[in-house]
Formats: sequence, structure tokens, C-alpha cells
Amino acid sequence: MDGCLFCKIINNEISAEKIYEDENVLAFLDINPINVGHTLVIPKNHSDSLLDTPIEDWLSVSEVAYRLAPKIKDAVDADGINIGMNIGAPAGQVIFHTHLHIMPRFSGDGYKLWKGTPYKDEQEIQTVADRIRSKI
Ligand code: 5GP
Ligand code: ZN
Repeated sequence: MDGCLFCKIINNEISAEKIYEDENVLAFLDINPINVGHTLVIPKNHSDSLLDTPIEDWLSVSEVAYRLAPKIKDAVDADGINIGMNIGAPAGQVIFHTHLHIMPRFSGDGYKLWKGTPYKDEQEIQTVADRIRSKI
């Protein structure tokens, strides 16, 4: 798509450190990694976010991530991995071309996961579950 940074990387109009490529998927190193080896896996077909990604593209991206994650972990000698996706600006999405983050983690790297807050009571958790089930 015109003006999309990641489409430009796919089309070699902007350089990136590509680590894997096939017909449908590209994986390349994040330019501003949370840790070394931080990799972005993207479908070659442009979509803005997972919410408008055809399921075939998502399945291709997730299969590549599944295969790459342990290899990246080994290559940088990481202790763990976070895999994540930011969907929408409020969730932290900055680049509006669907991408999955593979983020190597090291013991003591200092990153903290989000803190959870329990539901108020059984009524609240049931109401939320009912609302979600009603959409499925
Ligand atoms: P988001 O916040 O949209 O989920 O993540 C976008 C990611 O793209 C960020 O982690 C950012 O560092 C990365 N990024 C932004 N611009 C470039 C670029 O030009 N090249 C590469 N390789 N990564 C980029
Ligand atoms: Zn794009």
C-alpha cells in the first residue's frame, strides 16, 4: 500500500535486516529492539491490523513465528520469549501494517509484565463472559 513503511520494506524500497522470507510472509529485525533479536513477522499482503487480516495471512504469519521463535531464542541465547501484537493505537500500534513481535527475553532484563487486577466478584466475571459468548 502506498505510504506504508512495511510495504516499502517488502518491496526493498527501504532496507531492513531480513531474516526469513517466503511467498506470503517476511520476517526482519526491529530497528529499535526491546532486546537483541527482536523480530517482526508480517504478511506480504497489506492489512492495517489483525482485525482486517485475511485468516490465510494470519495462519501463514503464525506458522512462521512458530518456526522462527525457537531459532531466534537459540541464536541470541535468550532465556525466554514474548510474542505479541499491538492492535490499534490505544494498544500501542504505531505501524499500521499487521505485524507480530517476537521478543527475546533475558533473565534480569528488567521488563515487567502488566499487572492484573482481579474481577470485583463472581457476578462481574460472569457478565463479562456472557457478553463475550454472545458475540461468538
Ligand atoms: P508497533 O508499536 O506498531 O506494534 O510496532 C512497530 C515496530 O516497528 C516498533 O517496534 C518499531 O521499532 C519498528 N519499526 C519502526 N520503523 C521501523 C523501520 O523503519 N525498520 C524496522 N526494521 N523496524 C521499524
Ligand atoms: Zn503495508
